[in-house]
Amino acid sequence: MIFRPVRERPVDEVLAAVDAMIEQCGFEEVSFLSLSSSDYSHVEELVRRTMERHGAKKLSIGLPSLRIESFSVDLMDLLEKGRRRSGFTFAPEAATDRLRDVINKPIASSELLQTAEAVYQRGWTTVKMYFMIGHPTQTLEDVQAIADLSKAVLAVGRRVLGRKANVRIGVSTLVPKPHTPFQWVQMESEAVILEQIARLQRELRGPGIHFSWNDPKETLVEAFLTRGDRRMSNVIQRAWELGAKLEGWSEYFNFPAWEQAFQECGLEMDWYARRERPLEEILPWEHLSAGLKKEFLAEEYRHTLQGGVVDDCREHCFSCGILGYFKEQRRAAPDEAWGCPSLGKNKERQPVDIVPIPLYFNDDMSPDLHGQFTERVPQRRFGTVSKRIETSVEPLAAEQGGD
Ligand code: SF4
Repeated sequence: MIFRPVRERPVDEVLAAVDAMIEQCGFEEVSFLSLSSSDYSHVEELVRRTMERHGAKKLSIGLPSLRIESFSVDLMDLLEKGRRRSGFTFAPEAATDRLRDVINKPIASSELLQTAEAVYQRGWTTVKMYFMIGHPTQTLEDVQAIADLSKAVLAVGRRVLGRKANVRIGVSTLVPKPHTPFQWVQMESEAVILEQIARLQRELRGPGIHFSWNDPKETLVEAFLTRGDRRMSNVIQRAWELGAKLEGWSEYFNFPAWEQAFQECGLEMDWYARRERPLEEILPWEHLSAGLKKEFLAEEYRHTLQGGVVDDCREHCFSCGILGYFKEQRRAAPDEAWGCPSLGKNKERQPVDIVPIPLYFNDDMSPDLHGQFTERVPQRRFGTVSKRIETSVEPLAAEQGGD
Protein backbone atom coordinates (compact mmCIF):
# COMPACT_ATOMS: atom_id res chain seq x y z
CA MET A 1 0.00 0.00 0.00
CA ILE A 2 2.80 2.42 0.75
CA PHE A 3 4.63 1.74 -2.51
CA ARG A 4 2.09 3.20 -4.90
CA PRO A 5 2.14 3.62 -7.80
CA VAL A 6 3.71 0.49 -9.24
CA ARG A 7 7.13 1.32 -10.63
CA GLU A 8 9.43 -1.03 -12.49
CA ARG A 9 13.15 -0.81 -13.04
CA PRO A 10 14.39 -1.32 -16.60
CA VAL A 11 15.86 -4.78 -17.22
CA ASP A 12 19.27 -3.30 -18.11
CA GLU A 13 19.41 -1.55 -14.76
CA VAL A 14 18.65 -4.76 -12.85
CA LEU A 15 21.22 -6.68 -14.89
CA ALA A 16 23.85 -3.99 -14.30
CA ALA A 17 23.21 -4.24 -10.55
CA VAL A 18 23.57 -8.03 -10.66
CA ASP A 19 26.83 -7.77 -12.66
CA ALA A 20 28.28 -5.19 -10.29
CA MET A 21 27.29 -7.17 -7.21
CA ILE A 22 28.85 -10.39 -8.45
CA GLU A 23 32.00 -8.66 -9.61
CA GLN A 24 32.53 -6.62 -6.47
CA CYS A 25 31.19 -8.89 -3.77
CA GLY A 26 31.49 -12.40 -5.16
CA PHE A 27 28.02 -13.53 -4.21
CA GLU A 28 26.96 -17.12 -4.89
CA GLU A 29 23.26 -16.46 -4.97
CA VAL A 30 21.04 -13.84 -6.56
CA SER A 31 17.35 -13.56 -5.75
CA PHE A 32 14.88 -11.30 -7.51
CA LEU A 33 12.74 -10.31 -4.56
CA SER A 34 9.35 -8.73 -4.78
CA LEU A 35 5.90 -9.28 -3.33
CA SER A 36 5.29 -11.26 -6.49
CA SER A 37 8.30 -11.45 -8.81
CA SER A 38 6.28 -12.71 -11.75
CA ASP A 39 4.20 -9.51 -11.70
CA TYR A 40 7.26 -7.69 -13.05
CA SER A 41 6.23 -7.21 -16.65
CA HIS A 42 9.73 -8.02 -17.99
CA VAL A 43 10.41 -11.00 -15.77
CA GLU A 44 10.84 -13.42 -18.67
CA GLU A 45 13.40 -11.24 -20.41
CA LEU A 46 15.17 -10.67 -17.09
CA VAL A 47 15.42 -14.38 -16.36
CA ARG A 48 16.53 -15.23 -19.90
CA ARG A 49 19.23 -12.56 -20.00
CA THR A 50 20.43 -13.38 -16.47
CA MET A 51 20.83 -16.99 -17.49
CA GLU A 52 22.67 -15.98 -20.66
CA ARG A 53 25.14 -13.97 -18.60
CA HIS A 54 25.50 -16.07 -15.49
CA GLY A 55 23.96 -19.43 -16.22
CA ALA A 56 27.33 -21.13 -16.74
CA LYS A 57 28.69 -19.95 -13.37
CA LYS A 58 27.93 -21.82 -10.19
CA LEU A 59 25.53 -19.11 -9.22
CA SER A 60 22.16 -19.83 -7.75
CA ILE A 61 19.44 -17.57 -9.12
CA GLY A 62 16.13 -17.41 -7.34
CA LEU A 63 12.62 -16.11 -7.89
CA PRO A 64 11.18 -16.81 -4.47
CA SER A 65 7.82 -15.11 -4.74
CA LEU A 66 5.92 -16.36 -7.75
CA ARG A 67 2.30 -16.40 -8.72
CA ILE A 68 0.58 -19.71 -8.56
CA GLU A 69 0.30 -20.21 -12.29
CA SER A 70 1.97 -22.41 -14.85
CA PHE A 71 3.79 -19.29 -16.12
CA SER A 72 5.78 -19.42 -12.87
CA VAL A 73 6.69 -23.04 -13.50
CA ASP A 74 8.01 -22.12 -16.97
CA LEU A 75 10.12 -19.41 -15.41
CA MET A 76 11.57 -21.67 -12.75
CA ASP A 77 12.20 -24.24 -15.44
CA LEU A 78 14.32 -21.73 -17.27
CA LEU A 79 16.21 -20.79 -14.13
CA GLU A 80 16.92 -24.29 -12.95
CA LYS A 81 17.82 -25.84 -16.29
CA GLY A 82 20.37 -28.58 -15.69
CA ARG A 83 20.34 -28.10 -11.89
CA ARG A 84 19.10 -30.34 -9.16
CA ARG A 85 15.50 -29.45 -8.38
CA SER A 86 14.57 -29.59 -4.76
CA GLY A 87 11.83 -27.27 -3.57
CA PHE A 88 9.30 -25.09 -5.37
CA THR A 89 7.68 -22.47 -3.16
CA PHE A 90 4.16 -21.04 -3.25
CA ALA A 91 2.50 -18.66 -0.86
CA PRO A 92 -1.27 -19.20 -1.22
CA GLU A 93 -1.66 -17.71 2.32
CA ALA A 94 -5.20 -19.02 2.63
CA ALA A 95 -6.54 -22.44 1.68
CA THR A 96 -10.12 -21.70 0.61
CA ASP A 97 -11.18 -19.72 -2.43
CA ARG A 98 -13.41 -17.57 -0.21
CA LEU A 99 -10.63 -16.53 2.16
CA ARG A 100 -8.21 -15.92 -0.68
CA ASP A 101 -10.79 -13.50 -2.06
CA VAL A 102 -10.88 -11.75 1.33
CA ILE A 103 -7.13 -11.22 1.27
CA ASN A 104 -7.29 -10.28 -2.39
CA LYS A 105 -5.34 -13.23 -3.70
CA PRO A 106 -7.98 -14.73 -5.94
CA ILE A 107 -6.50 -18.03 -7.10
CA ALA A 108 -8.71 -21.11 -7.30
CA SER A 109 -7.58 -24.22 -5.42
CA SER A 110 -8.02 -26.15 -8.68
CA GLU A 111 -5.46 -23.87 -10.32
CA LEU A 112 -3.05 -24.45 -7.46
CA LEU A 113 -3.39 -28.21 -7.85
CA GLN A 114 -2.78 -27.98 -11.59
CA THR A 115 0.34 -25.92 -11.01
CA ALA A 116 1.54 -28.36 -8.34
CA GLU A 117 1.10 -31.18 -10.86
CA ALA A 118 3.18 -29.26 -13.42
CA VAL A 119 5.85 -28.70 -10.75
CA TYR A 120 6.12 -32.40 -9.86
CA GLN A 121 6.00 -33.41 -13.54
CA ARG A 122 9.02 -31.25 -14.25
CA GLY A 123 11.16 -32.90 -11.65
CA TRP A 124 10.75 -30.95 -8.43
CA THR A 125 10.26 -33.34 -5.57
CA THR A 126 9.09 -30.86 -2.92
CA VAL A 127 6.34 -28.26 -3.02
CA LYS A 128 6.61 -25.72 -0.19
CA MET A 129 3.52 -23.76 0.72
CA TYR A 130 3.11 -20.87 3.11
CA PHE A 131 -0.20 -20.16 4.80
CA MET A 132 -1.40 -17.71 7.39
CA ILE A 133 -3.89 -18.17 10.17
CA GLY A 134 -5.78 -15.39 11.90
CA HIS A 135 -7.10 -13.61 8.81
CA PRO A 136 -10.26 -11.57 9.35
CA THR A 137 -13.39 -13.73 8.83
CA GLN A 138 -11.33 -16.95 9.05
CA THR A 139 -13.23 -19.96 10.39
CA LEU A 140 -12.11 -23.38 11.56
CA GLU A 141 -13.13 -24.68 8.13
CA ASP A 142 -10.53 -22.40 6.55
CA VAL A 143 -7.91 -23.85 8.92
CA GLN A 144 -8.97 -27.40 8.16
CA ALA A 145 -8.71 -26.52 4.46
CA ILE A 146 -4.96 -25.88 4.93
CA ALA A 147 -4.56 -29.53 5.90
CA ASP A 148 -6.90 -30.75 3.14
CA LEU A 149 -5.20 -28.73 0.42
CA SER A 150 -1.74 -29.80 1.58
CA LYS A 151 -2.78 -33.45 1.47
CA ALA A 152 -4.32 -32.94 -1.97
CA VAL A 153 -1.05 -31.46 -3.25
CA LEU A 154 0.88 -34.41 -1.80
CA ALA A 155 -1.56 -36.81 -3.45
CA VAL A 156 -0.90 -35.13 -6.80
CA GLY A 157 2.85 -35.47 -6.18
CA ARG A 158 2.54 -39.13 -5.23
CA ARG A 159 0.59 -39.80 -8.41
CA VAL A 160 3.34 -38.21 -10.50
CA LEU A 161 6.52 -39.16 -8.63
CA GLY A 162 5.54 -41.86 -6.19
CA ARG A 163 7.10 -41.79 -2.73
CA LYS A 164 9.72 -39.22 -3.76
CA ALA A 165 7.11 -36.44 -3.61
CA ASN A 166 6.96 -34.22 -0.52
CA VAL A 167 5.13 -31.17 0.76
CA ARG A 168 6.45 -28.71 3.32
CA ILE A 169 3.89 -26.50 4.98
CA GLY A 170 4.79 -23.33 6.87
CA VAL A 171 2.10 -21.53 8.88
CA SER A 172 2.41 -18.11 10.45
CA THR A 173 -0.11 -15.84 12.14
CA LEU A 174 -1.36 -12.66 10.52
CA VAL A 175 0.18 -9.57 12.07
CA PRO A 176 -1.91 -6.56 10.95
CA LYS A 177 0.32 -3.78 9.63
CA PRO A 178 -0.01 0.01 9.60
CA HIS A 179 -0.88 1.73 6.30
CA THR A 180 -2.78 -1.35 5.11
CA PRO A 181 -6.51 -2.11 5.02
CA PHE A 182 -5.98 -4.44 8.01
CA GLN A 183 -4.50 -1.75 10.24
CA TRP A 184 -7.71 -1.75 12.35
CA VAL A 185 -7.90 -5.53 12.76
CA GLN A 186 -7.28 -7.34 16.05
CA MET A 187 -4.73 -10.12 16.06
CA GLU A 188 -6.18 -13.52 16.92
CA SER A 189 -6.03 -14.59 20.61
CA GLU A 190 -3.28 -16.96 21.72
CA ALA A 191 -5.77 -19.64 22.75
CA VAL A 192 -7.35 -19.69 19.29
CA ILE A 193 -3.96 -19.69 17.54
CA LEU A 194 -2.78 -22.61 19.68
CA GLU A 195 -5.98 -24.51 18.98
CA GLN A 196 -5.57 -24.00 15.24
CA ILE A 197 -1.91 -25.03 15.29
CA ALA A 198 -2.76 -28.13 17.33
CA ARG A 199 -5.38 -29.08 14.77
CA LEU A 200 -2.88 -28.70 11.93
CA GLN A 201 -0.28 -30.69 13.90
CA ARG A 202 -2.76 -33.53 14.19
CA GLU A 203 -3.69 -33.36 10.52
CA LEU A 204 -0.32 -32.68 8.92
CA ARG A 205 1.74 -35.65 9.92
CA GLY A 206 2.98 -38.77 8.22
CA PRO A 207 5.36 -39.63 5.40
CA GLY A 208 5.98 -36.87 2.88
CA ILE A 209 4.54 -34.03 5.00
CA HIS A 210 6.57 -31.59 7.00
CA PHE A 211 4.76 -28.93 9.02
CA SER A 212 6.29 -25.92 10.76
CA TRP A 213 4.75 -22.91 12.51
CA ASN A 214 5.70 -19.72 14.30
CA ASP A 215 5.73 -19.38 18.08
CA PRO A 216 2.60 -17.32 18.94
CA LYS A 217 4.58 -15.41 21.61
CA GLU A 218 7.16 -14.27 19.05
CA THR A 219 4.28 -13.23 16.82
CA LEU A 220 2.76 -11.23 19.68
CA VAL A 221 6.00 -9.26 20.11
CA GLU A 222 6.01 -8.53 16.39
CA ALA A 223 2.38 -7.42 16.63
CA PHE A 224 2.75 -4.89 19.46
CA LEU A 225 5.94 -3.47 17.99
CA THR A 226 4.28 -3.16 14.59
CA ARG A 227 1.35 -1.06 15.77
CA GLY A 228 2.83 0.53 18.86
CA ASP A 229 2.80 4.22 19.73
CA ARG A 230 5.53 6.40 21.19
CA ARG A 231 5.07 4.91 24.67
CA MET A 232 6.46 1.72 23.23
CA SER A 233 9.96 3.25 23.27
CA ASN A 234 10.00 2.97 27.10
CA VAL A 235 8.91 -0.66 26.84
CA ILE A 236 11.63 -1.47 24.31
CA GLN A 237 14.32 0.18 26.41
CA ARG A 238 13.18 -1.57 29.59
CA ALA A 239 12.92 -4.95 27.87
CA TRP A 240 16.44 -4.45 26.58
CA GLU A 241 17.67 -3.60 30.07
CA LEU A 242 16.02 -6.77 31.30
CA GLY A 243 17.91 -8.85 28.77
CA ALA A 244 15.80 -8.91 25.59
CA LYS A 245 18.57 -8.57 23.06
CA LEU A 246 18.50 -11.22 20.36
CA GLU A 247 14.76 -11.53 19.98
CA GLY A 248 14.89 -12.77 16.40
CA TRP A 249 16.64 -15.95 17.54
CA SER A 250 14.24 -18.39 19.16
CA GLU A 251 16.90 -19.76 21.50
CA TYR A 252 17.47 -16.28 22.98
CA PHE A 253 13.87 -15.04 22.80
CA ASN A 254 13.11 -13.52 26.20
CA PHE A 255 9.34 -13.14 26.54
CA PRO A 256 9.38 -12.64 30.34
CA ALA A 257 11.50 -9.50 29.82
CA TRP A 258 8.75 -8.05 27.60
CA GLU A 259 6.04 -8.99 30.10
CA GLN A 260 7.91 -7.27 32.92
CA ALA A 261 8.68 -4.21 30.79
CA PHE A 262 4.98 -3.81 29.91
CA GLN A 263 3.99 -4.19 33.54
CA GLU A 264 6.52 -1.63 34.75
CA CYS A 265 5.42 0.85 32.06
CA GLY A 266 1.75 0.37 32.98
CA LEU A 267 0.79 -0.82 29.49
CA GLU A 268 -0.90 -3.91 28.08
CA MET A 269 0.26 -6.03 25.16
CA ASP A 270 -3.27 -6.93 24.14
CA TRP A 271 -4.32 -3.29 23.98
CA TYR A 272 -1.82 -2.85 21.16
CA ALA A 273 -2.08 -6.22 19.45
CA ARG A 274 -5.47 -7.72 20.14
CA ARG A 275 -7.88 -4.84 20.05
CA GLU A 276 -10.09 -4.10 17.12
CA ARG A 277 -9.57 -0.41 16.50
CA PRO A 278 -12.58 1.70 15.52
CA LEU A 279 -12.28 3.30 12.09
CA GLU A 280 -12.49 6.76 13.65
CA GLU A 281 -9.56 6.16 16.04
CA ILE A 282 -6.57 8.39 15.39
CA LEU A 283 -3.78 5.93 14.77
CA PRO A 284 -0.23 6.49 16.05
CA TRP A 285 1.23 6.47 12.54
CA GLU A 286 -1.22 8.88 10.96
CA HIS A 287 1.28 11.73 10.96
CA LEU A 288 3.29 9.68 8.47
CA SER A 289 1.75 9.84 5.06
CA ALA A 290 2.46 7.75 2.01
CA GLY A 291 -0.12 9.75 0.13
CA LEU A 292 -2.98 7.28 0.51
CA LYS A 293 -6.30 8.49 1.87
CA LYS A 294 -7.37 6.84 5.11
CA GLU A 295 -10.83 6.52 3.61
CA PHE A 296 -9.38 4.50 0.74
CA LEU A 297 -7.85 2.00 3.19
CA ALA A 298 -11.11 1.89 5.16
CA GLU A 299 -13.06 1.24 1.97
CA GLU A 300 -10.71 -1.63 1.06
CA TYR A 301 -11.08 -3.00 4.59
CA ARG A 302 -14.88 -2.97 4.36
CA HIS A 303 -14.72 -4.45 0.88
CA THR A 304 -12.44 -7.33 1.89
CA LEU A 305 -14.63 -8.16 4.89
CA GLN A 306 -17.44 -8.67 2.40
CA GLY A 307 -15.20 -11.05 0.45
CA GLY A 308 -14.82 -8.70 -2.51
CA VAL A 309 -11.76 -8.89 -4.74
CA VAL A 310 -10.12 -5.63 -5.68
CA ASP A 311 -8.54 -5.42 -9.14
CA ASP A 312 -4.91 -4.64 -9.66
CA CYS A 313 -4.94 -0.86 -9.86
CA ARG A 314 -2.97 -1.07 -13.10
CA GLU A 315 -6.26 -2.30 -14.57
CA HIS A 316 -8.52 0.11 -12.77
CA CYS A 317 -7.72 3.23 -10.76
CA PHE A 318 -9.36 3.49 -7.34
CA SER A 319 -8.26 7.03 -6.55
CA CYS A 320 -6.10 5.92 -3.68
CA GLY A 321 -5.13 9.49 -2.91
CA ILE A 322 -1.65 9.81 -4.34
CA LEU A 323 -2.84 11.75 -7.39
CA GLY A 324 -3.67 14.81 -5.34
CA TYR A 325 -0.97 14.31 -2.77
CA PHE A 326 1.85 14.17 -5.28
CA LYS A 327 0.33 16.70 -7.66
CA GLU A 328 3.49 18.72 -7.84
CA GLN A 329 5.71 15.74 -8.48
CA ARG A 330 3.30 14.43 -11.11
CA ARG A 331 3.47 17.67 -13.00
CA ALA A 332 7.22 17.36 -12.98
CA ALA A 333 7.42 13.78 -14.23
CA PRO A 334 5.98 12.35 -17.44
CA ASP A 335 2.58 10.67 -17.14
CA GLU A 336 3.94 7.36 -18.41
CA ALA A 337 6.24 7.28 -15.40
CA TRP A 338 3.28 7.02 -13.05
CA GLY A 339 0.95 4.72 -14.87
CA CYS A 340 -1.91 6.47 -13.06
CA PRO A 341 -4.61 8.50 -14.79
CA SER A 342 -3.22 11.61 -16.43
CA LEU A 343 -3.47 15.11 -15.11
CA GLY A 344 -6.29 17.27 -16.41
CA LYS A 345 -9.91 16.67 -17.29
CA ASN A 346 -10.91 13.86 -19.67
CA LYS A 347 -7.33 12.68 -20.04
CA GLU A 348 -6.83 9.03 -20.94
CA ARG A 349 -5.14 6.69 -18.54
CA GLN A 350 -1.51 6.22 -19.51
CA PRO A 351 0.09 2.83 -20.13
CA VAL A 352 2.62 1.86 -17.51
CA ASP A 353 6.13 2.48 -18.71
CA ILE A 354 9.42 1.84 -16.99
CA VAL A 355 10.61 5.38 -16.51
CA PRO A 356 12.05 6.11 -13.07
CA ILE A 357 10.06 8.69 -11.13
CA PRO A 358 11.05 10.81 -8.17
CA LEU A 359 11.04 9.12 -4.81
CA TYR A 360 8.33 10.49 -2.60
CA PHE A 361 8.95 13.55 -0.57
CA ASN A 362 6.64 14.49 2.23
CA ASP A 363 6.40 18.26 2.64
CA ASP A 364 5.23 17.93 6.23
CA MET A 365 8.51 16.29 7.14
CA SER A 366 10.60 18.97 5.47
CA PRO A 367 13.62 20.16 7.50
CA ASP A 368 12.24 23.69 6.97
CA LEU A 369 9.51 22.81 9.45
CA HIS A 370 11.81 21.17 11.93
CA GLY A 371 14.07 23.75 13.52
CA GLN A 372 15.69 21.23 15.79
CA PHE A 373 17.86 19.96 12.94
CA THR A 374 20.79 22.35 12.84
CA GLU A 375 22.46 20.82 9.85
CA ARG A 376 20.07 20.22 7.00
CA VAL A 377 20.15 16.96 5.20
CA PRO A 378 19.67 17.52 1.46
CA GLN A 379 16.33 16.10 0.36
CA ARG A 380 15.80 14.07 -2.74
CA ARG A 381 13.72 16.72 -4.46
CA PHE A 382 16.88 18.79 -4.73
CA GLY A 383 19.00 15.86 -5.78
CA THR A 384 19.66 13.94 -8.92
CA VAL A 385 16.08 13.05 -9.70
CA SER A 386 14.88 16.62 -9.86
CA LYS A 387 17.84 17.48 -12.08
CA ARG A 388 16.60 14.91 -14.55
CA ILE A 389 13.06 16.21 -14.53
CA GLU A 390 13.97 19.91 -14.55
CA THR A 391 14.41 19.75 -18.29
CA SER A 392 10.89 18.49 -18.89
CA VAL A 393 8.98 20.35 -16.19
CA GLU A 394 8.17 23.50 -18.14
CA PRO A 395 6.68 22.01 -21.31
CA LEU A 396 4.82 19.31 -19.37
CA ALA A 397 3.29 21.72 -16.89
CA ALA A 398 2.28 24.06 -19.68
CA GLU A 399 0.77 21.27 -21.76
CA GLN A 400 -1.16 19.60 -19.00
CA GLY A 401 -2.68 22.49 -17.15
CA GLY A 402 -4.56 21.84 -13.89
CA ASP A 403 -5.30 18.58 -12.12
S1 SF4 B 1 -3.92 6.73 -8.31
FE1 SF4 B 1 -5.07 4.96 -9.09
S2 SF4 B 1 -3.69 3.94 -10.52
FE2 SF4 B 1 -2.44 5.35 -9.30
S3 SF4 B 1 -1.64 4.09 -7.60
FE3 SF4 B 1 -3.55 5.04 -6.88
S4 SF4 B 1 -5.19 3.54 -7.33
FE4 SF4 B 1 -3.36 2.97 -8.51
